[in-house]
Amino acid sequence: MTLQDRDNHPSAAGAGEARLYEAFIALGSNLGDRERYLQEAIRLLNDHPLIEVIRCSDVYETDPVGYADQGSFLNMVAAVRTALSPSQLHAHMQHIENRLGRVRTIPNGPRTVDLDLLLYDHTELHTPELTVPHPRMWERAFVLVPLLDAIGERPEFRASITRRLDTLEGKEGVLRWSSFNWPSGFGLSGS
Ligand code: ADP
Ligand code: MG
Repeated sequence: MTLQDRDNHPSAAGAGEARLYEAFIALGSNLGDRERYLQEAIRLLNDHPLIEVIRCSDVYETDPVGYADQGSFLNMVAAVRTALSPSQLHAHMQHIENRLGRVRTIPNGPRTVDLDLLLYDHTELHTPELTVPHPRMWERAFVLVPLLDAIGERPEFRASITRRLDTLEGKEGVLRWSSFNWPSGFGLSGS
């Protein structure tokens, strides 16, 4: 279903002429069936009548950063087209985290699934709940490596990401784990 089709959805009343924005969402999981959590989170994003997942990165396995005594992460990035505002999109991302059972205990600690809003077109936003672009994305190889896969035809972002990855430490700890062919799902699994 395309986003245009979804404009006929009752919850999109009046949104037929809404402008569509392109946003990039980082997903991470290091508890339980990590692959299934990522797949479910992508499906739930796309199930929203005003969100369309347009591209997904490959999936990477990454050693934990910050709180080391936990399992390794699977990380990926999804590109979406949406008529939601940044705060509406973030609220839906938190709804997905809660629905998939994320329990917030230790900062940077284990989680079934974590969704971070990296970029929302060229919007800059600073509210108590939401900072966009994501304030830590430029320090995190496990975010920038999959973001480069998903960035598509955005030469201005592609150049900045490539330049930053040239000098960023830790990118050798981000290993390609499987492909994720949206909308069909995972390709060859690394384990
Ligand atoms: P982290 O993702 O840094 O490991 P959390 O997922 O627990 O940590 O997020 C902590 C807080 O960060 C959330 O309460 C959320 O409101 C806030 N936050 C600020 N900017 C963003 C963003 N761009 N994407 C996601 N969360 C954000
Ligand atoms: Mg988060």
